[in-house]
Amino acid sequence: MTIIQAAPATTDARDRGAQAWANAQRQLTDAVEILEYTDGLHQLLATPRRELTVSVPLRRDNGDVEVLTGYRVQHNFSRGPAKGGLRFSPDVSLDEVRALSMWMTWKCALLDVPYGGAKGGITIDPRRYSTRELERVTRRYTSEILPLIGPERDIPAPDIGTDERTMAWMMDTYSVNVGYTVPSVVTGKPVSIGGSLGRASATSKGVAYIAIAALEHLGLRPERCSAAIQGFGKVGAGAAELLAEAGVKIRAISDQYGAIYANEGIDLPALVEHVNLTGTVVGFAKSDPLDPPSLLELDVDVLVPAAVEGVLTATNAPRVRAKLIVEGANGPTTAAADQILNELGVLVVPDILANAGGVIVSYFEWVQGNQSYWWTAAEVDERLKQRMLSAWDSLLRASTLAGRSLRSAATIAAVQRVADAHLIRGMYP
Ligand code: GLU
Repeated sequence: MTIIQAAPATTDARDRGAQAWANAQRQLTDAVEILEYTDGLHQLLATPRRELTVSVPLRRDNGDVEVLTGYRVQHNFSRGPAKGGLRFSPDVSLDEVRALSMWMTWKCALLDVPYGGAKGGITIDPRRYSTRELERVTRRYTSEILPLIGPERDIPAPDIGTDERTMAWMMDTYSVNVGYTVPSVVTGKPVSIGGSLGRASATSKGVAYIAIAALEHLGLRPERCSAAIQGFGKVGAGAAELLAEAGVKIRAISDQYGAIYANEGIDLPALVEHVNLTGTVVGFAKSDPLDPPSLLELDVDVLVPAAVEGVLTATNAPRVRAKLIVEGANGPTTAAADQILNELGVLVVPDILANAGGVIVSYFEWVQGNQSYWWTAAEVDERLKQRMLSAWDSLLRASTLAGRSLRSAATIAAVQRVADAHLIRGMYP
């Protein structure tokens, strides 16, 4: 038997993780300075409450054993159980998971969802493993982090590289270990085992609602606008379809394999068919190939980065021509890029609002599970829309009143909610 230590995140990926974590810290520091918090309170908000690194031994289908690394970070749980996705990607590093967990804390606070923030990840390229191998990885990882999770403690959900099937395996592993079925230990499950109607499309719907509201705020009519979407996964694909339905011309789309462009707008239903057949947007007949990095610099009205962190940087931000950026991904804009985009007058709707649709419907799923009472798809959608748009209205008001960017106003509001909860509870001992 051969035992292989599976490749850790590359130096590049670790650097990107460190950059994301530095970015998250920088956003917090800016908010704390404005809120005039003490160093002690700042430290408390900056430091994850719990971090767990686990080895995940995997027996490959050919009998070899490989040892992968997994993480679960609970950044904060002052307002309720920790909440956040599980990411399978070769880029996963501890710092990346830390950053993502902090953003979950602010996202839940901003949307007034009664959770703290967490995130998990395994450094793995899921495309290189069979379904049975991914099941074994998920089950072993779940049992390694078992003491941390639970419906009142920490509730995982899908993220990049994971889906409702992953959640079903996690839910089953947890339930078998405790001895009874616990649907609410995860959200984003299949509907047949207690998942919520509307969860799968929730993040992209939220992105589309916010994009349309922000366009209207800028005095632009969706049917006269164009967009570029980076990422054609759970978030980007749905957002592209919904924006196209609202009349927005989707000029460019990318995925991890490449990018495509069609000046008159990409035919979304035909593209979805092409992707179902080939697994990528590349080679779509009714489009031209596009150099992926240039997608972010196209002359379009709306740019939706819906892939990974740190794609808008000090280097490309000065060349951004979109009037509006709606962050479908978590952390796509570095702090330096943020400042440049602000100076250029580009309206950036921050991730912690723009992509919050997923965790909002995760919350609805958890509530339904706790009550064993199921809502209709229409009820879910209506409540999602109402929460997203009222959060958008309050944020817009706060940012206008204070003369701050949407990100700054959003981070301040979220940090304040978490700090207030911490202060009113007091410190033990
Ligand atoms: N992974 C999603 C996010 O980053 C959803 C998290 C959840 O539903 O808990 O917001």
